[in-house]
Amino acid sequence: MKFVSKKCPHCGEWSEYQDNIHEECYFCLKPLEPDTVKDYQNYEKKGKEYYEKLFEPFFPIKPQDSWFIKGIKYIVNTIGLIYVSMVSFIIAVIALLPG
Ligand SMILES: [Zn+2]
Repeated sequence: MKFVSKKCPHCGEWSEYQDNIHEECYFCLKPLEPDTVKDYQNYEKKGKEYYEKLFEPFFPIKPQDSWFIKGIKYIVNTIGLIYVSMVSFIIAVIALLPG
């Protein structure tokens, strides 16, 4: 861990700054590196979007679909999810197999 003096971008006071993006100003308690925190938040949001996309149903069920279409979509989505889970499982097993 390194300690550096850093000027607070909010109040202009010099704070001892640890190598940590969540480090706050001693004087006004605002983050010393707002850009880094922002980047981190963007990254988190991107990760969330990525996972939402990954687990998105293959055929999104729309409210205007008839019960028949809804049923088919529901079944296909369930089978798709099972299929994806199985493939992930098989890949994991292959990856864990010795040799
Ligand atoms: Zn400050």
